[in-house]
Amino acid sequence: MAAPTQPIILTRHPQMFPTLDPSEIERVRRFGTVRSYGAGEALVEVGDIGHGLTIILAGHVDITQHDESGRRALIVTHGPGNFMGELAQLAGRPALVDGHAQGPVEALIIPPDSLRALLISEAELGERIMRALILRRVGLLETGAGGPVIVGRNENGDVLRLVGFLRRNGHPHQTLNPETDPEAKALIERFHVDPGQLPIVLCPGGQILRNPSEVELARCIGMVGPIDPDRVYDVAIVGAGPAGLATAVYAASEGLSVLVLDCRAFGGQAGASARIENYLGFPTGIAGIALMARAYNQAQKFGAEMAIPDEVLSLDAASKAGDARFTLRLAYNERATARSIVIASGARYRRIAVSNLEEFEGTGVHYWASPIETRLCTGQEVVVVGAGNSAGQAVVYLATYVKKVWLLVRGPSLQASMSRYLVDRISGLANVEVVLQAEISALEGHDHILEAVHWRGPSGEIVRRPVRHLFLFIGAEPNTDWLATSGIALDSKGFVLTGSDVSADGEALETSQRGVFAIGDVRSGSIKRVASAVGEGAQVVATLHRFLGEGHS
Ligand SMILES: Cc1cc2nc3c(=O)[nH]c(=O)nc-3n(C[C@H](O)[C@H](O)[C@H](O)COP(=O)(O)OP(=O)(O)OC[C@H]3O[C@@H](n4cnc5c(N)ncnc54)[C@H](O)[C@@H]3O)c2cc1C
Repeated sequence: MAAPTQPIILTRHPQMFPTLDPSEIERVRRFGTVRSYGAGEALVEVGDIGHGLTIILAGHVDITQHDESGRRALIVTHGPGNFMGELAQLAGRPALVDGHAQGPVEALIIPPDSLRALLISEAELGERIMRALILRRVGLLETGAGGPVIVGRNENGDVLRLVGFLRRNGHPHQTLNPETDPEAKALIERFHVDPGQLPIVLCPGGQILRNPSEVELARCIGMVGPIDPDRVYDVAIVGAGPAGLATAVYAASEGLSVLVLDCRAFGGQAGASARIENYLGFPTGIAGIALMARAYNQAQKFGAEMAIPDEVLSLDAASKAGDARFTLRLAYNERATARSIVIASGARYRRIAVSNLEEFEGTGVHYWASPIETRLCTGQEVVVVGAGNSAGQAVVYLATYVKKVWLLVRGPSLQASMSRYLVDRISGLANVEVVLQAEISALEGHDHILEAVHWRGPSGEIVRRPVRHLFLFIGAEPNTDWLATSGIALDSKGFVLTGSDVSADGEALETSQRGVFAIGDVRSGSIKRVASAVGEGAQVVATLHRFLGEGHS
Protein backbone atom coordinates (compact mmCIF):
# COMPACT_ATOMS: atom_id res chain seq x y z
CA MET A 1 0.00 0.00 0.00
CA ALA A 2 1.30 3.49 -0.85
CA ALA A 3 2.51 5.44 2.18
CA PRO A 4 0.17 8.33 3.07
CA THR A 5 1.56 11.59 1.76
CA GLN A 6 2.50 14.12 4.40
CA PRO A 7 1.03 17.62 4.35
CA ILE A 8 3.20 20.15 2.56
CA ILE A 9 3.40 22.26 5.72
CA LEU A 10 5.52 19.46 7.24
CA THR A 11 7.61 18.56 4.20
CA ARG A 12 8.36 22.09 2.96
CA HIS A 13 8.09 24.15 6.17
CA PRO A 14 11.40 26.08 5.83
CA GLN A 15 10.60 27.17 2.24
CA MET A 16 6.99 28.00 3.10
CA PHE A 17 7.93 30.19 6.03
CA PRO A 18 11.41 31.69 5.44
CA THR A 19 12.88 34.39 7.68
CA LEU A 20 14.31 37.50 6.01
CA ASP A 21 17.50 38.78 7.61
CA PRO A 22 17.81 42.43 8.72
CA SER A 23 19.82 43.46 5.64
CA GLU A 24 17.15 41.98 3.33
CA ILE A 25 14.41 43.83 5.21
CA GLU A 26 16.36 47.09 4.85
CA ARG A 27 16.62 46.50 1.07
CA VAL A 28 12.85 46.06 0.66
CA ARG A 29 11.74 48.88 3.00
CA ARG A 30 11.40 51.22 0.04
CA PHE A 31 8.56 49.11 -1.36
CA GLY A 32 6.23 49.52 1.61
CA THR A 33 5.04 51.53 4.60
CA VAL A 34 5.36 50.72 8.31
CA ARG A 35 2.21 50.22 10.43
CA SER A 36 1.63 49.42 14.09
CA TYR A 37 -1.07 47.14 15.54
CA GLY A 38 -2.33 46.62 19.10
CA ALA A 39 -2.62 43.24 20.87
CA GLY A 40 -5.46 41.17 19.39
CA GLU A 41 -5.91 43.50 16.41
CA ALA A 42 -6.54 41.88 13.01
CA LEU A 43 -3.81 42.50 10.44
CA VAL A 44 -5.91 40.65 7.89
CA GLU A 45 -9.22 38.77 7.84
CA VAL A 46 -10.63 36.27 5.34
CA GLY A 47 -12.10 38.20 2.41
CA ASP A 48 -9.97 41.37 2.88
CA ILE A 49 -8.72 42.63 -0.48
CA GLY A 50 -5.48 44.18 -1.60
CA HIS A 51 -3.29 43.75 1.50
CA GLY A 52 -0.17 42.67 -0.30
CA LEU A 53 2.81 41.27 1.58
CA THR A 54 3.18 42.01 5.30
CA ILE A 55 6.69 41.66 6.75
CA ILE A 56 6.75 41.45 10.56
CA LEU A 57 9.34 43.88 11.99
CA ALA A 58 8.51 43.40 15.71
CA GLY A 59 6.07 41.23 17.67
CA HIS A 60 4.18 38.06 16.70
CA VAL A 61 1.13 37.34 14.52
CA ASP A 62 -1.04 34.19 14.63
CA ILE A 63 -2.23 32.99 11.21
CA THR A 64 -5.42 30.93 11.49
CA GLN A 65 -7.81 29.20 9.13
CA HIS A 66 -11.46 28.14 9.44
CA ASP A 67 -12.58 24.57 8.88
CA GLU A 68 -15.95 23.69 7.31
CA SER A 69 -17.70 24.11 10.68
CA GLY A 70 -16.18 27.53 11.25
CA ARG A 71 -13.68 26.34 13.92
CA ARG A 72 -10.37 28.21 13.89
CA ALA A 73 -7.07 26.36 13.65
CA LEU A 74 -3.59 27.85 13.98
CA ILE A 75 -1.49 27.46 10.82
CA VAL A 76 1.66 29.26 11.96
CA THR A 77 2.87 32.10 14.18
CA HIS A 78 4.98 34.71 12.38
CA GLY A 79 7.76 36.54 14.24
CA PRO A 80 10.27 39.24 13.24
CA GLY A 81 11.62 38.65 9.71
CA ASN A 82 8.67 36.41 8.69
CA PHE A 83 6.11 37.59 6.18
CA MET A 84 2.37 37.08 5.77
CA GLY A 85 0.70 36.48 2.41
CA GLU A 86 0.06 33.88 -0.28
CA LEU A 87 -0.73 33.97 -4.00
CA ALA A 88 -3.94 36.02 -3.54
CA GLN A 89 -1.79 38.97 -2.46
CA LEU A 90 0.04 39.04 -5.77
CA ALA A 91 -3.15 39.78 -7.68
CA GLY A 92 -4.91 41.82 -4.99
CA ARG A 93 -7.49 39.06 -4.42
CA PRO A 94 -9.34 38.35 -1.12
CA ALA A 95 -7.29 36.91 1.76
CA LEU A 96 -7.96 33.25 2.59
CA VAL A 97 -6.72 33.30 6.22
CA ASP A 98 -6.92 35.50 9.31
CA GLY A 99 -3.89 37.16 11.00
CA HIS A 100 -4.13 38.56 14.56
CA ALA A 101 -1.44 40.33 16.60
CA GLN A 102 -0.44 38.35 19.72
CA GLY A 103 0.83 41.56 21.35
CA PRO A 104 1.99 44.92 19.94
CA VAL A 105 3.18 44.42 16.33
CA GLU A 106 5.08 46.58 13.87
CA ALA A 107 4.92 45.52 10.21
CA LEU A 108 6.02 46.64 6.76
CA ILE A 109 3.04 46.54 4.37
CA ILE A 110 3.93 46.09 0.68
CA PRO A 111 0.83 46.53 -1.57
CA PRO A 112 0.30 44.16 -4.57
CA ASP A 113 1.76 46.44 -7.30
CA SER A 114 4.88 47.18 -5.19
CA LEU A 115 5.15 43.46 -4.38
CA ARG A 116 5.30 42.68 -8.10
CA ALA A 117 8.00 45.36 -8.54
CA LEU A 118 9.95 43.82 -5.63
CA LEU A 119 9.75 40.30 -7.09
CA ILE A 120 11.19 41.54 -10.38
CA SER A 121 13.91 43.87 -9.06
CA GLU A 122 15.14 41.59 -6.23
CA ALA A 123 15.80 38.39 -8.20
CA GLU A 124 17.10 36.01 -5.50
CA LEU A 125 14.93 37.30 -2.68
CA GLY A 126 11.99 37.54 -5.10
CA GLU A 127 12.41 33.86 -5.96
CA ARG A 128 12.32 32.87 -2.28
CA ILE A 129 9.22 34.98 -1.62
CA MET A 130 7.45 33.72 -4.78
CA ARG A 131 8.20 30.10 -3.84
CA ALA A 132 6.75 30.68 -0.36
CA LEU A 133 3.59 32.28 -1.79
CA ILE A 134 3.05 29.32 -4.13
CA LEU A 135 3.73 26.68 -1.46
CA ARG A 136 1.32 28.41 0.93
CA ARG A 137 -1.43 28.26 -1.72
CA VAL A 138 -0.67 24.56 -2.18
CA GLY A 139 -1.01 24.14 1.60
CA LEU A 140 -4.38 25.91 1.58
CA LEU A 141 -5.52 23.76 -1.34
CA GLU A 142 -4.68 20.65 0.72
CA THR A 143 -6.90 21.73 3.60
CA GLY A 144 -9.44 23.71 1.59
CA ALA A 145 -9.06 26.57 4.08
CA GLY A 146 -10.50 29.99 3.33
CA GLY A 147 -12.52 28.78 0.37
CA PRO A 148 -16.20 28.00 -0.14
CA VAL A 149 -17.84 24.85 1.29
CA ILE A 150 -19.89 22.83 -1.23
CA VAL A 151 -22.66 20.76 0.34
CA GLY A 152 -23.95 17.91 -1.82
CA ARG A 153 -23.38 14.27 -2.78
CA ASN A 154 -19.87 13.63 -4.14
CA GLU A 155 -21.17 12.04 -7.36
CA ASN A 156 -23.76 14.77 -8.04
CA GLY A 157 -23.05 16.36 -11.46
CA ASP A 158 -23.26 19.91 -10.12
CA VAL A 159 -20.93 19.12 -7.20
CA LEU A 160 -18.45 17.72 -9.73
CA ARG A 161 -18.89 20.80 -11.93
CA LEU A 162 -18.18 23.24 -9.06
CA VAL A 163 -15.33 21.18 -7.60
CA GLY A 164 -13.79 20.85 -11.07
CA PHE A 165 -14.08 24.57 -11.63
CA LEU A 166 -12.43 25.53 -8.30
CA ARG A 167 -9.77 22.91 -8.72
CA ARG A 168 -8.90 24.08 -12.25
CA ASN A 169 -8.58 27.63 -10.93
CA GLY A 170 -6.38 26.59 -8.00
CA HIS A 171 -8.88 27.87 -5.43
CA PRO A 172 -9.20 26.16 -2.01
CA HIS A 173 -12.56 24.58 -1.22
CA GLN A 174 -14.16 21.88 0.90
CA THR A 175 -17.02 19.47 0.25
CA LEU A 176 -19.54 18.05 2.72
CA ASN A 177 -21.70 15.05 1.83
CA PRO A 178 -25.11 15.22 3.58
CA GLU A 179 -25.47 11.43 3.30
CA THR A 180 -22.41 10.72 5.42
CA ASP A 181 -21.67 13.94 7.25
CA PRO A 182 -23.81 14.99 10.25
CA GLU A 183 -22.56 18.60 9.93
CA ALA A 184 -23.79 18.80 6.33
CA LYS A 185 -27.17 17.41 7.42
CA ALA A 186 -27.38 20.05 10.16
CA LEU A 187 -26.50 22.82 7.69
CA ILE A 188 -29.22 21.72 5.29
CA GLU A 189 -31.78 21.72 8.09
CA ARG A 190 -30.63 25.09 9.41
CA PHE A 191 -30.97 26.76 6.00
CA HIS A 192 -34.20 24.87 5.10
CA VAL A 193 -32.73 23.48 1.91
CA ASP A 194 -34.80 21.03 -0.09
CA PRO A 195 -32.59 18.05 -1.18
CA GLY A 196 -33.55 18.87 -4.79
CA GLN A 197 -31.84 22.27 -4.44
CA LEU A 198 -28.47 20.75 -3.63
CA PRO A 199 -25.68 21.53 -3.90
CA ILE A 200 -25.57 24.65 -1.81
CA VAL A 201 -22.37 26.62 -1.44
CA LEU A 202 -21.37 28.53 1.70
CA CYS A 203 -19.04 31.37 0.77
CA PRO A 204 -16.39 32.65 3.22
CA GLY A 205 -18.27 35.97 3.46
CA GLY A 206 -21.34 34.13 4.84
CA GLN A 207 -23.47 34.15 1.65
CA ILE A 208 -25.30 30.98 0.61
CA LEU A 209 -25.64 30.11 -3.06
CA ARG A 210 -28.07 27.47 -4.30
CA ASN A 211 -26.56 25.42 -7.13
CA PRO A 212 -24.73 28.45 -8.55
CA SER A 213 -23.17 28.85 -11.97
CA GLU A 214 -19.37 29.00 -12.00
CA VAL A 215 -19.48 32.76 -12.65
CA GLU A 216 -21.88 33.38 -9.73
CA LEU A 217 -19.61 31.41 -7.43
CA ALA A 218 -16.47 33.17 -8.68
CA ARG A 219 -18.03 36.61 -8.15
CA CYS A 220 -19.21 35.67 -4.65
CA ILE A 221 -15.77 34.54 -3.49
CA GLY A 222 -13.94 37.44 -5.14
CA MET A 223 -12.04 35.41 -7.75
CA VAL A 224 -13.02 38.02 -10.32
CA GLY A 225 -14.08 41.61 -9.81
CA PRO A 226 -15.71 44.24 -12.02
CA ILE A 227 -13.64 45.52 -14.98
CA ASP A 228 -12.94 49.26 -15.19
CA PRO A 229 -14.69 50.27 -18.47
CA ASP A 230 -12.65 53.50 -18.73
CA ARG A 231 -9.25 51.85 -18.57
CA VAL A 232 -7.61 51.34 -21.98
CA TYR A 233 -5.22 48.36 -21.95
CA ASP A 234 -2.39 48.04 -24.46
CA VAL A 235 -3.61 44.54 -25.18
CA ALA A 236 -6.61 42.44 -24.21
CA ILE A 237 -6.11 38.68 -24.62
CA VAL A 238 -9.16 36.46 -25.05
CA GLY A 239 -8.31 33.02 -23.68
CA ALA A 240 -5.92 31.92 -20.93
CA GLY A 241 -4.72 28.68 -22.49
CA PRO A 242 -1.00 28.23 -23.24
CA ALA A 243 -1.16 30.69 -26.16
CA GLY A 244 -2.88 33.48 -24.21
CA LEU A 245 -0.74 32.99 -21.10
CA ALA A 246 2.47 33.06 -23.16
CA THR A 247 1.42 36.39 -24.68
CA ALA A 248 0.56 37.68 -21.19
CA VAL A 249 3.99 36.75 -19.81
CA TYR A 250 5.96 38.27 -22.69
CA ALA A 251 3.79 41.37 -23.15
CA ALA A 252 3.60 42.19 -19.42
CA SER A 253 7.30 41.54 -18.86
CA GLU A 254 8.04 43.96 -21.73
CA GLY A 255 6.02 46.73 -20.10
CA LEU A 256 2.67 46.52 -21.89
CA SER A 257 -0.54 46.78 -19.86
CA VAL A 258 -2.33 43.45 -20.27
CA LEU A 259 -5.81 42.12 -19.53
CA VAL A 260 -6.44 38.37 -19.88
CA LEU A 261 -10.03 37.09 -20.05
CA ASP A 262 -11.16 33.48 -19.92
CA CYS A 263 -14.70 32.17 -19.53
CA ARG A 264 -13.70 29.04 -17.62
CA ALA A 265 -10.26 28.65 -16.08
CA PHE A 266 -6.62 29.29 -16.83
CA GLY A 267 -4.82 26.59 -18.79
CA GLY A 268 -7.34 25.91 -21.56
CA GLN A 269 -7.18 22.43 -23.05
CA ALA A 270 -3.60 22.02 -21.84
CA GLY A 271 -4.83 22.44 -18.27
CA ALA A 272 -7.00 19.35 -18.84
CA SER A 273 -4.17 17.17 -20.06
CA ALA A 274 -3.33 14.46 -17.52
CA ARG A 275 0.32 14.44 -18.54
CA ILE A 276 2.15 16.42 -21.21
CA GLU A 277 5.19 14.42 -22.23
CA ASN A 278 6.31 16.28 -25.34
CA TYR A 279 6.83 19.80 -23.96
CA LEU A 280 10.45 20.89 -24.17
CA GLY A 281 12.37 20.71 -20.91
CA PHE A 282 10.19 18.19 -19.04
CA PRO A 283 11.76 14.80 -19.81
CA THR A 284 9.58 12.99 -17.26
CA GLY A 285 6.42 14.82 -18.36
CA ILE A 286 4.33 17.29 -16.41
CA ALA A 287 0.63 17.48 -15.54
CA GLY A 288 -0.98 20.08 -17.80
CA ILE A 289 -2.47 21.95 -14.86
CA ALA A 290 0.94 22.17 -13.13
CA LEU A 291 2.58 23.62 -16.25
CA MET A 292 -0.25 26.09 -16.75
CA ALA A 293 -0.34 27.17 -13.07
CA ARG A 294 3.33 28.16 -13.39
CA ALA A 295 2.54 30.26 -16.45
CA TYR A 296 -0.49 31.82 -14.74
CA ASN A 297 1.53 32.84 -11.66
CA GLN A 298 4.37 34.08 -13.86
CA ALA A 299 2.02 36.33 -15.87
CA GLN A 300 0.63 37.80 -12.64
CA LYS A 301 4.12 38.39 -11.31
CA PHE A 302 4.75 40.65 -14.30
CA GLY A 303 1.48 42.50 -13.66
CA ALA A 304 -0.93 40.96 -16.19
CA GLU A 305 -4.50 41.38 -14.93
CA MET A 306 -6.67 38.29 -14.94
CA ALA A 307 -10.43 38.29 -15.39
CA ILE A 308 -11.29 34.60 -14.93
CA PRO A 309 -14.03 33.47 -15.32
CA ASP A 310 -15.33 36.20 -17.60
CA GLU A 311 -16.82 35.45 -20.99
CA VAL A 312 -16.22 37.64 -24.04
CA LEU A 313 -19.49 37.86 -25.96
CA SER A 314 -18.38 39.96 -28.92
CA LEU A 315 -15.65 42.13 -30.37
CA ASP A 316 -16.29 45.56 -31.79
CA ALA A 317 -13.45 45.64 -34.25
CA ALA A 318 -14.74 48.57 -36.27
CA SER A 319 -12.45 51.24 -34.84
CA LYS A 320 -13.46 54.76 -35.77
CA ALA A 321 -11.09 56.92 -37.81
CA GLY A 322 -8.16 58.11 -35.70
CA ASP A 323 -9.24 55.91 -32.77
CA ALA A 324 -7.64 52.49 -32.79
CA ARG A 325 -9.50 51.20 -29.76
CA PHE A 326 -11.31 47.91 -29.61
CA THR A 327 -14.19 47.07 -27.33
CA LEU A 328 -14.90 43.63 -25.94
CA ARG A 329 -18.48 43.10 -24.75
CA LEU A 330 -18.52 40.87 -21.70
CA ALA A 331 -21.10 38.95 -19.70
CA TYR A 332 -22.90 40.97 -16.98
CA ASN A 333 -23.15 43.97 -19.34
CA GLU A 334 -19.51 44.83 -18.80
CA ARG A 335 -16.97 45.88 -21.41
CA ALA A 336 -13.19 46.11 -21.71
CA THR A 337 -11.26 48.44 -23.97
CA ALA A 338 -7.83 47.91 -25.51
CA ARG A 339 -5.56 49.26 -28.22
CA SER A 340 -4.99 45.78 -29.58
CA ILE A 341 -6.62 42.36 -29.24
CA VAL A 342 -5.12 38.88 -29.20
CA ILE A 343 -7.59 36.10 -30.01
CA ALA A 344 -6.41 32.99 -28.15
CA SER A 345 -9.78 31.36 -27.56
CA GLY A 346 -8.69 27.90 -28.71
CA ALA A 347 -11.07 25.07 -29.41
CA ARG A 348 -13.74 22.96 -27.67
CA TYR A 349 -14.56 19.26 -27.71
CA ARG A 350 -16.67 17.66 -30.32
CA ARG A 351 -19.63 15.58 -29.09
CA ILE A 352 -21.07 12.33 -30.41
CA ALA A 353 -24.53 12.17 -32.00
CA VAL A 354 -26.42 10.31 -29.27
CA SER A 355 -29.72 11.85 -28.17
CA ASN A 356 -29.33 11.49 -24.38
CA LEU A 357 -25.61 12.39 -24.23
CA GLU A 358 -26.24 15.59 -22.27
CA GLU A 359 -27.99 13.71 -19.44
CA PHE A 360 -24.74 11.98 -18.54
CA GLU A 361 -22.26 14.80 -19.16
CA GLY A 362 -20.27 15.53 -16.02
CA THR A 363 -21.40 12.35 -14.23
CA GLY A 364 -20.72 9.51 -16.70
CA VAL A 365 -19.51 11.22 -19.89
CA HIS A 366 -16.22 13.09 -19.60
CA TYR A 367 -14.06 15.21 -21.90
CA TRP A 368 -10.94 14.93 -19.77
CA ALA A 369 -9.27 12.36 -17.62
CA SER A 370 -7.93 14.03 -14.50
CA PRO A 371 -7.69 12.77 -10.90
CA ILE A 372 -11.29 13.97 -10.36
CA GLU A 373 -12.68 11.56 -12.98
CA THR A 374 -10.25 8.81 -12.02
CA ARG A 375 -11.62 8.75 -8.47
CA LEU A 376 -15.06 8.01 -9.90
CA CYS A 377 -14.04 5.03 -12.02
CA THR A 378 -11.18 3.36 -10.15
CA GLY A 379 -11.41 -0.44 -10.45
CA GLN A 380 -14.19 -0.30 -13.09
CA GLU A 381 -14.42 -0.81 -16.86
CA VAL A 382 -14.38 2.39 -18.93
CA VAL A 383 -14.77 3.27 -22.61
CA VAL A 384 -12.53 5.83 -24.35
CA VAL A 385 -13.46 7.09 -27.83
CA GLY A 386 -10.90 8.72 -30.12
CA ALA A 387 -7.74 8.10 -32.06
CA GLY A 388 -5.64 11.20 -31.43
CA ASN A 389 -2.93 11.87 -28.88
CA SER A 390 -5.37 13.13 -26.26
CA ALA A 391 -7.26 9.81 -26.43
CA GLY A 392 -3.96 7.92 -26.25
CA GLN A 393 -2.79 9.84 -23.19
CA ALA A 394 -6.11 9.29 -21.46
CA VAL A 395 -5.93 5.55 -22.11
CA VAL A 396 -2.40 5.29 -20.71
CA TYR A 397 -3.36 7.34 -17.66
CA LEU A 398 -6.67 5.57 -16.95
CA ALA A 399 -5.21 2.09 -17.44
CA THR A 400 -3.24 2.51 -14.20
CA TYR A 401 -6.43 2.91 -12.16
CA VAL A 402 -9.25 1.08 -13.89
CA LYS A 403 -9.98 -2.63 -14.43
CA LYS A 404 -10.26 -2.36 -18.21
CA VAL A 405 -10.19 0.30 -20.93
CA TRP A 406 -12.07 -0.22 -24.20
CA LEU A 407 -10.58 2.14 -26.80
CA LEU A 408 -13.09 2.66 -29.64
CA VAL A 409 -11.59 3.98 -32.88
CA ARG A 410 -13.74 4.92 -35.88
CA GLY A 411 -11.01 4.38 -38.48
CA PRO A 412 -9.12 1.23 -39.50
CA SER A 413 -5.92 2.00 -37.53
CA LEU A 414 -4.45 4.04 -34.68
CA GLN A 415 -1.11 4.75 -36.35
CA ALA A 416 -2.49 7.34 -38.78
CA SER A 417 -3.50 9.80 -36.05
CA MET A 418 -1.66 8.94 -32.82
CA SER A 419 2.02 9.47 -31.97
CA ARG A 420 4.09 6.33 -32.23
CA TYR A 421 5.18 6.38 -28.57
CA LEU A 422 1.55 6.25 -27.44
CA VAL A 423 0.59 3.49 -29.88
CA ASP A 424 3.54 1.42 -28.57
CA ARG A 425 2.64 2.10 -24.97
CA ILE A 426 -1.01 1.15 -25.47
CA SER A 427 -0.08 -2.11 -27.19
CA GLY A 428 1.92 -3.01 -24.07
CA LEU A 429 -1.00 -2.53 -21.69
CA ALA A 430 -2.73 -5.81 -20.80
CA ASN A 431 -5.96 -4.17 -19.61
CA VAL A 432 -6.56 -2.13 -22.79
CA GLU A 433 -8.56 -3.50 -25.71
CA VAL A 434 -8.56 -1.51 -28.96
CA VAL A 435 -11.70 -1.89 -31.12
CA LEU A 436 -11.21 -0.51 -34.64
CA GLN A 437 -14.04 0.67 -36.91
CA ALA A 438 -16.40 1.03 -33.96
CA GLU A 439 -18.93 3.78 -33.14
CA ILE A 440 -21.09 4.45 -30.08
CA SER A 441 -24.72 3.69 -30.94
CA ALA A 442 -26.55 4.32 -27.63
CA LEU A 443 -26.15 5.21 -23.98
CA GLU A 444 -28.25 3.55 -21.32
CA GLY A 445 -29.01 4.80 -17.82
CA HIS A 446 -31.30 7.03 -15.80
CA ASP A 447 -31.23 9.98 -13.35
CA HIS A 448 -27.94 11.16 -14.88
CA ILE A 449 -26.25 7.86 -14.03
CA LEU A 450 -24.80 6.04 -17.02
CA GLU A 451 -25.30 2.27 -16.76
CA ALA A 452 -24.23 0.84 -20.12
CA VAL A 453 -22.60 1.81 -23.40
CA HIS A 454 -23.62 0.26 -26.76
CA TRP A 455 -21.38 0.33 -29.81
CA ARG A 456 -21.55 -0.91 -33.38
CA GLY A 457 -18.56 -3.04 -34.32
CA PRO A 458 -16.82 -3.48 -37.72
CA SER A 459 -19.38 -5.96 -39.07
CA GLY A 460 -22.40 -4.02 -37.81
CA GLU A 461 -22.90 -6.08 -34.63
CA ILE A 462 -24.05 -4.19 -31.50
CA VAL A 463 -22.00 -4.72 -28.34
CA ARG A 464 -23.39 -3.73 -24.90
CA ARG A 465 -21.07 -3.30 -21.92
CA PRO A 466 -22.10 -2.32 -18.39
CA VAL A 467 -19.87 0.75 -18.28
CA ARG A 468 -20.53 3.81 -16.08
CA HIS A 469 -17.84 6.11 -17.46
CA LEU A 470 -17.31 7.13 -21.08
CA PHE A 471 -14.43 9.40 -22.14
CA LEU A 472 -14.70 11.29 -25.44
CA PHE A 473 -11.62 12.61 -27.24
CA ILE A 474 -12.90 13.11 -30.78
CA GLY A 475 -11.45 16.43 -31.79
CA ALA A 476 -12.35 20.03 -31.44
CA GLU A 477 -14.13 22.97 -33.02
CA PRO A 478 -12.87 26.57 -32.84
CA ASN A 479 -14.23 28.91 -30.14
CA THR A 480 -15.12 31.68 -32.55
CA ASP A 481 -18.90 32.15 -32.05
CA TRP A 482 -18.12 35.39 -30.23
CA LEU A 483 -16.47 36.76 -33.40
CA ALA A 484 -19.67 36.35 -35.50
CA THR A 485 -20.40 40.09 -35.72
CA SER A 486 -16.80 41.32 -35.71
CA GLY A 487 -16.10 41.07 -39.43
CA ILE A 488 -12.89 39.10 -38.72
CA ALA A 489 -12.30 36.67 -41.61
CA LEU A 490 -12.66 32.96 -40.73
CA ASP A 491 -11.97 29.82 -42.79
CA SER A 492 -14.70 27.37 -43.81
CA LYS A 493 -14.47 25.54 -40.46
CA GLY A 494 -14.60 28.73 -38.42
CA PHE A 495 -10.87 29.05 -37.57
CA VAL A 496 -9.38 32.59 -37.74
CA LEU A 497 -7.41 33.48 -40.88
CA THR A 498 -4.14 35.36 -40.44
CA GLY A 499 -1.09 36.69 -42.33
CA SER A 500 -0.83 35.91 -46.03
CA ASP A 501 -4.21 34.07 -45.88
CA VAL A 502 -5.94 37.44 -45.51
CA SER A 503 -3.73 39.71 -47.62
CA ALA A 504 -0.56 39.40 -49.67
CA ASP A 505 1.41 41.68 -47.33
CA GLY A 506 -0.36 40.60 -44.10
CA GLU A 507 1.74 40.51 -40.92
CA ALA A 508 2.19 36.99 -39.56
CA LEU A 509 -0.50 36.25 -36.93
CA GLU A 510 -2.47 39.41 -37.78
CA THR A 511 -6.13 38.89 -38.74
CA SER A 512 -8.12 40.69 -41.43
CA GLN A 513 -8.44 43.57 -38.94
CA ARG A 514 -5.31 45.69 -38.18
CA GLY A 515 -4.49 45.45 -34.48
CA VAL A 516 -6.34 42.17 -33.95
CA PHE A 517 -4.16 39.06 -33.82
CA ALA A 518 -4.91 35.33 -33.56
CA ILE A 519 -2.70 32.62 -32.04
CA GLY A 520 -2.79 28.98 -31.00
CA ASP A 521 -5.50 26.41 -31.77
CA VAL A 522 -8.06 29.01 -32.86
CA ARG A 523 -5.83 30.13 -35.75
CA SER A 524 -6.43 28.55 -39.14
CA GLY A 525 -3.56 26.26 -40.06
CA SER A 526 -1.90 26.27 -36.62
CA ILE A 527 -0.23 23.17 -35.22
CA LYS A 528 -2.44 21.97 -32.36
CA ARG A 529 0.23 21.57 -29.71
CA VAL A 530 1.15 23.29 -26.43
CA ALA A 531 4.62 24.25 -27.68
CA SER A 532 3.32 25.85 -30.87
CA ALA A 533 0.62 27.74 -28.94
CA VAL A 534 3.31 29.05 -26.57
CA GLY A 535 5.61 29.90 -29.49
CA GLU A 536 2.91 31.90 -31.26
CA GLY A 537 2.05 33.59 -27.96
CA ALA A 538 5.63 34.82 -27.68
CA GLN A 539 5.96 35.67 -31.37
CA VAL A 540 2.85 37.85 -31.49
CA VAL A 541 4.31 40.25 -28.92
CA ALA A 542 6.91 41.52 -31.41
CA THR A 543 4.11 42.26 -33.89
CA LEU A 544 2.11 43.93 -31.13
CA HIS A 545 5.01 46.24 -30.32
CA ARG A 546 5.29 47.16 -34.00
CA PHE A 547 1.56 47.91 -34.22
CA LEU A 548 1.46 49.96 -31.00
CA GLY A 549 4.69 51.73 -32.00
CA GLU A 550 3.12 52.90 -35.26
CA GLY A 551 1.07 55.46 -33.36
CA HIS A 552 -1.89 53.24 -32.54
CA SER A 553 -1.27 53.80 -28.82
C1 LIG B 1 -6.91 16.22 -23.10
C2 LIG B 1 -5.88 16.93 -23.96
C3 LIG B 1 -4.54 16.56 -23.90
C4 LIG B 1 -3.59 17.23 -24.67
N1 LIG B 1 -2.27 16.86 -24.57
C5 LIG B 1 -1.32 17.53 -25.28
C6 LIG B 1 0.06 17.16 -25.16
O1 LIG B 1 0.41 16.25 -24.43
N2 LIG B 1 0.96 17.88 -25.88
C7 LIG B 1 0.61 18.89 -26.70
O2 LIG B 1 1.49 19.52 -27.29
N3 LIG B 1 -0.69 19.26 -26.84
C8 LIG B 1 -1.66 18.60 -26.15
N4 LIG B 1 -2.98 18.94 -26.29
C9 LIG B 1 -3.32 20.05 -27.21
C10 LIG B 1 -3.06 21.39 -26.51
O3 LIG B 1 -3.60 21.35 -25.20
C11 LIG B 1 -3.65 22.54 -27.29
O4 LIG B 1 -3.05 22.56 -28.57
C12 LIG B 1 -3.39 23.88 -26.61
O5 LIG B 1 -3.97 23.89 -25.31
C13 LIG B 1 -3.95 25.05 -27.41
O6 LIG B 1 -3.73 26.20 -26.68
P1 LIG B 1 -4.57 27.53 -26.92
O7 LIG B 1 -4.12 28.50 -25.88
O8 LIG B 1 -4.46 27.94 -28.34
O9 LIG B 1 -6.11 27.17 -26.71
P2 LIG B 1 -6.89 26.45 -25.54
O10 LIG B 1 -5.98 25.61 -24.75
O11 LIG B 1 -8.07 25.83 -26.18
O12 LIG B 1 -7.38 27.68 -24.62
C14 LIG B 1 -8.37 28.57 -25.04
C15 LIG B 1 -9.00 29.26 -23.85
O13 LIG B 1 -9.90 30.27 -24.34
C16 LIG B 1 -11.05 30.32 -23.51
N5 LIG B 1 -12.17 30.90 -24.26
C17 LIG B 1 -12.79 30.41 -25.36
N6 LIG B 1 -13.78 31.24 -25.77
C18 LIG B 1 -13.79 32.28 -24.91
C19 LIG B 1 -14.59 33.46 -24.79
N7 LIG B 1 -15.57 33.75 -25.66
N8 LIG B 1 -14.35 34.31 -23.77
C20 LIG B 1 -13.35 34.04 -22.88
N9 LIG B 1 -12.56 32.93 -22.96
C21 LIG B 1 -12.77 32.08 -23.95
C22 LIG B 1 -11.27 28.86 -23.14
O14 LIG B 1 -12.00 28.77 -21.92
C23 LIG B 1 -9.84 28.33 -22.99
O15 LIG B 1 -9.38 28.38 -21.66
C24 LIG B 1 -3.97 18.29 -25.54
C25 LIG B 1 -5.33 18.65 -25.60
C26 LIG B 1 -6.27 17.98 -24.83
C27 LIG B 1 -7.72 18.39 -24.91
